[in-house]
Amino acid sequence: MSFTAFISDLHLTRTRPRINRIFFSFLAGAALQADALYILGDLFEYWAGDDDLVDPLNAQIAAALKAVSEAGVPVYLMHGNRDLLLFDSFGRAAGVTFIADPTMIDLYGTRTLLMHGDTLCTADERYQASRRRMHSRAWQRVFLTLPLLIRRAMIERARRRSDARKQTEAEAIMDVTPAAVDQALHASGCERLIHGHTHRPARHTHLIAGRNCERWVLSAWYDHGEYLSVSAQGCTPVQLD
Ligand code: MN
Repeated sequence: MSFTAFISDLHLTRTRPRINRIFFSFLAGAALQADALYILGDLFEYWAGDDDLVDPLNAQIAAALKAVSEAGVPVYLMHGNRDLLLFDSFGRAAGVTFIADPTMIDLYGTRTLLMHGDTLCTADERYQASRRRMHSRAWQRVFLTLPLLIRRAMIERARRRSDARKQTEAEAIMDVTPAAVDQALHASGCERLIHGHTHRPARHTHLIAGRNCERWVLSAWYDHGEYLSVSAQGCTPVQLD
């Protein structure tokens, strides 16, 4: 059966070797059966710039992805908030095609909107302000002039601060805002939205101007791996251990 695979929020890092192994088996297995593979952001725990390809695990991940597109399965990559500094050198090494956030595609006849998901979390004003700063070309240019080791250390410090904040902030603030979801579905005219980022895997239904729409939230890869298999029949999460 013909299907397209969606993954996000793998947060690949050397400290979680089991998840890395699950990812490599997925690329050598189910991914090769797919019509296409979409990675909707946060493939990496963090990405400090394309010179981070010197890291052996990062190089191995790029090579494994490249084997998928070379086997004839196109791989599309959307930036997440943790890997927004993936650029063309990585794209070439990994054989992936970058796609914008949001992107609209026709999936077996269903108009589908793809997003990482962080732009839907509009109630978190502090996050959105720092997102705007990090997405500015000026900030990126300056940051990328720093040595790789300094960039890694700065990102790790920022990550620790944001993890500490997640313990204290209200749950609702860091989830998507219903109005932002309605707006995205309404403006795009899509019947389906697929996104990650919130680590709250689920299927939601939304009534948008009399249209029944569905929203699939992808699973993060912590206890297990998971991809969403989408076919003409619909969407099915598939767990990988
Ligand atoms: Mn994210």
